[in-house]
Amino acid sequence: MEGFKWEYAPAPEAKDHAKLKTQYDLFINGKFVKPNSKKYFDTHSPSTLEKLAEVAEANAKDVDSAVTAAKLAYDKVWKKMPAKERSKYIFRIARVMQERARELAVIESMDGGKPIRESRDFDVPTAANHFFYYAGWADKLDYAFPNKKPKSLGVAAQIIPWNFPLLMAAWKIAPALATGNTVVLKPAESTPLTALKLAEIIQDCDLPPGVVNIINGFGNTGAAMVAHPHVNKIAFTGSTDVGKIIQKAIAGTNKKITLELGGKAANIVFDDAPIDQAVEGIVNGIFFNQGHVCCAGSRLFVQENVAEVVIRKLKERMETLIVGDPLDKNTDIGAINSKEQLDKINSYLEIGRAEGLELFQTSGSIPSKGYYCKPTLFIGAAQSNRVVQEEIFGPVLTIQTFRTIEEVIEKANNIPYGLSAGVWTDKGSKIFNLTSKLRAGVIWANTYNKFDPTSPFGGYKESGFGREGGLHGLAPYLTF
Ligand code: NAP
Ligand code: MG
Repeated sequence: MEGFKWEYAPAPEAKDHAKLKTQYDLFINGKFVKPNSKKYFDTHSPSTLEKLAEVAEANAKDVDSAVTAAKLAYDKVWKKMPAKERSKYIFRIARVMQERARELAVIESMDGGKPIRESRDFDVPTAANHFFYYAGWADKLDYAFPNKKPKSLGVAAQIIPWNFPLLMAAWKIAPALATGNTVVLKPAESTPLTALKLAEIIQDCDLPPGVVNIINGFGNTGAAMVAHPHVNKIAFTGSTDVGKIIQKAIAGTNKKITLELGGKAANIVFDDAPIDQAVEGIVNGIFFNQGHVCCAGSRLFVQENVAEVVIRKLKERMETLIVGDPLDKNTDIGAINSKEQLDKINSYLEIGRAEGLELFQTSGSIPSKGYYCKPTLFIGAAQSNRVVQEEIFGPVLTIQTFRTIEEVIEKANNIPYGLSAGVWTDKGSKIFNLTSKLRAGVIWANTYNKFDPTSPFGGYKESGFGREGGLHGLAPYLTF
């Protein structure tokens, strides 16, 4: 397979138009304000390791200022504003995001490590589309929920992870605003920059002060948001462990909650599947965004009689993947988001080896500087292996084989998670059979990782509850 990969000349995306300040404050009540904590932390590029900016850390007092601003804006302005007017602001945010799409994409790739091709073609346009989509719902809630008289809740505290920083912010903010709620959002500490750019956009759009507040910090900041008495709704995307902590923290209160947590999706390939398309879907399912995807197709199930050919073609395709500079337009797999995440992935590579599994990694090189991981297969995995049961959140795919439909359904479901799954077959009847029996919130058939603002997303079991996206995504922000 040596020499299979074409050499490409570097094609770096220009970054001189990406305007970053050296220091960012908290965005509260329509202004950037100094933190009461007086503390700032650094955010780095995981590929060049350079410091990109300093970001204010919100303590409990800062959280209180943000929640108070959101509550005042809710009571005095946003709740009373006609829905038709609210929707114009949301449209405006979507339009300005489109205008600044290049800058947002470059900053997303610098701060988080994902390939520019993805941030440019997927994250940023999909984020803007969420604002467009929910802008359209704002004045049609009575049609979305006929005879139910939907009412807004108040202040939404929204906490998001580092894998889709801008897109997760859009997923959270757009439906909250459309339903008439106000927001305090906290990005993950390793990827604060695009949300701060969004704060600038929101400021430029003249959204009434306090309707959206964006503050940064660590787990403590998130915990203070969850605990604040004036928060009416919590929307959390992140790990199952933190999801459980949050649920405990709000037990006995009236706070509404949605949790979007981890996943360990089965991607199932039958012998009647179009094999080349399936291989493309497998690659997209697990290596897309370095495997930093909660719905990643991280467990491959291949029907035994085609396993050899699928694995051979998969290895060949993997050899062509370019791992490298996130800002290079040829890059397929960018940098792992942080040192901690790379350490976690590497520890799972050791666990898989110790479990006696055959490991395959591509032969190409990875950059010597920065956090990188080669795309990896664990072949011959069994249901009991830790690498099969636990979420790795990196470009690591386990491969199991199966003979019958019953067997694969049992194995696919026998896991604590239930966020997503994929099915590859030529037969529609098989697809319907599996989609009714797989315990997963999203099931893709003959495709993978397709997203659209109109379709709901969310999990079963330890993958959380509540839905985001589509008409379903409005309900968690309303009372009836
Ligand atoms: P995480 O550690 O749970 O962090 C998520 C967010 O919660 C971050 O903003 C984090 O702040 C904050 N946080 C940490 N401790 C908290 C606490 N005690 N109270 C309130 N907030 C707290 O998850 P992560 O490692 O960033 O993200 C990876 C995980 O997210 C994976 O398990 C993945 O599957 C899941 N995920 C799920 C979905 C989905 O839609 N289901 C989407 C994306 C990711 P700091 O980062 O500053 O510590
Ligand atoms: Mg960073």
